[in-house]
Amino acid sequence: MFEFYPEVNLSREELLKQIATAVKPSRFQHMLGVEKAAIALAKKYGVDPHKASLAGLLHDYCKEVDDETFLALIDKYDLDTDLKNWDNNIWHGKVGIYKMMEDFGLKDPEILRAIEIHTVGDRVMSPLAKVLYVADYIEEGRVFPGVIEARAVAKQDLNQAVAFETMRLVNYLAEQRLTIYPQTLEAYNTFIGYLR
Ligand code: GDP
Ligand code: FE
Ligand code: FE
Ligand code: FE
Repeated sequence: MFEFYPEVNLSREELLKQIATAVKPSRFQHMLGVEKAAIALAKKYGVDPHKASLAGLLHDYCKEVDDETFLALIDKYDLDTDLKNWDNNIWHGKVGIYKMMEDFGLKDPEILRAIEIHTVGDRVMSPLAKVLYVADYIEEGRVFPGVIEARAVAKQDLNQAVAFETMRLVNYLAEQRLTIYPQTLEAYNTFIGYLR
């Protein structure tokens, strides 16, 4: 376990305390689960486990932030105005990183980028971003249908795991008659070839 996180200048204890004030206990547990899964994937796929740890612990820090705050951040940082057509599901990563920079002084571009795209993926994803994206899906607390298969794929190949998760996500969103964020479809198109 890491005792200190220089990227946010906090001890692990201080960091966990701040996260716990921002999210409900079940989400806090999910973030610990994602950290654990991300560290394991990082070690397996040659990614820095310390960065994986911090990315996992922080990734959903903004999931309980209210809509008005996100809308104000979109204006403040001059972000793509199309973001205003979406909701918390998309904002907590893509807009959330700006609040994380403010609240934690987090500047590490690789960690910020991984958190930014943890929900939707992207055409180009760093190894750390892939690790976080997959860890979020397979952490030990997840129980949805398909998670067992997703864990098995994650043991075989990181790109296949990204592809599998994105395929299942797009399928799920379509079945629920939900709109699909364009970046989600771009990730699908880029990665789906790994499953053929
Ligand atoms: P969580 O924050 O740990 O619950 O997981 P994620 O950040 O990966 O996803 C948050 C929510 O966003 C989930 O309910 C996903 O189904 C949903 N989501 C992911 N991609 C899209 C998308 O393209 N469109 C829509 N409408 N929802 C999405
Ligand atoms: Fe999330
Ligand atoms: Fe996810
Ligand atoms: Fe999550």
